[in-house]
Amino acid sequence: MTSMERLDLTADDRVLAVVAHPDDMEYGASAAVAKWAADGVEVSYLLLTHGEHGIAGSAPAETARVRTREQREACACVGAVNLTILDFPDGMLTYGLELREAVAREIRKVKPTVVLTQNFDTVVPWGLNQADHRVAGLVALDAVRDAGNEFLFPDAGEKHQASLLLITGHPSPTCAVEIAHEHVRAGIDSLSSHEVYLAALPDHAKPEDIIGDAARAGGEALGTEYAIAFRSFPL
Ligand SMILES: [Zn+2]
Repeated sequence: MTSMERLDLTADDRVLAVVAHPDDMEYGASAAVAKWAADGVEVSYLLLTHGEHGIAGSAPAETARVRTREQREACACVGAVNLTILDFPDGMLTYGLELREAVAREIRKVKPTVVLTQNFDTVVPWGLNQADHRVAGLVALDAVRDAGNEFLFPDAGEKHQASLLLITGHPSPTCAVEIAHEHVRAGIDSLSSHEVYLAALPDHAKPEDIIGDAARAGGEALGTEYAIAFRSFPL
């Protein structure tokens, strides 16, 4: 096993998480957000869709309304202070310059030191990856560099270069954030906030098992009780 580096952010850091859907941050990453927020790090979320096509039998406009509310509650559980949700179509995200510009614009506005996104591989540790997750992760990877180039998307704000890219849900993590029991708890609460969404998925594992397992696995890799692991790329 490769050695795991400790990741310690400070109040000088600012994190922007870029994901496809409401709930994507809540499968482990939000427990790390709880720790960062407690340490004074400003954390913002950028969701590319409202997840409006995610509940079978429910009208998309109603699902969007419910999932937006549940995401707000999830953010409040872990202290993520800003939530921006773009109106790209759930389930039909298309990799391209339109999305890269939209994400680069948000990066230039928020000016994060750290951009966090989701695994964009075809195969992920839990099976085949979802179409929007692949697009969102790849777009974030590219937009984080687009944002630092003044010649790309000049109408989308002043250039800004983040210094670190973190990927959640990666099979070969390289760094981990040590967290305490209270952050594990906040992470569980944030996933549980997606109450209507999870109720529509009766076979879904319990939030305490999902977050507890992730935190213990990260902790084992780092040599602590609990940690959340990421693949990291300095930029
Ligand atoms: Zn998702």
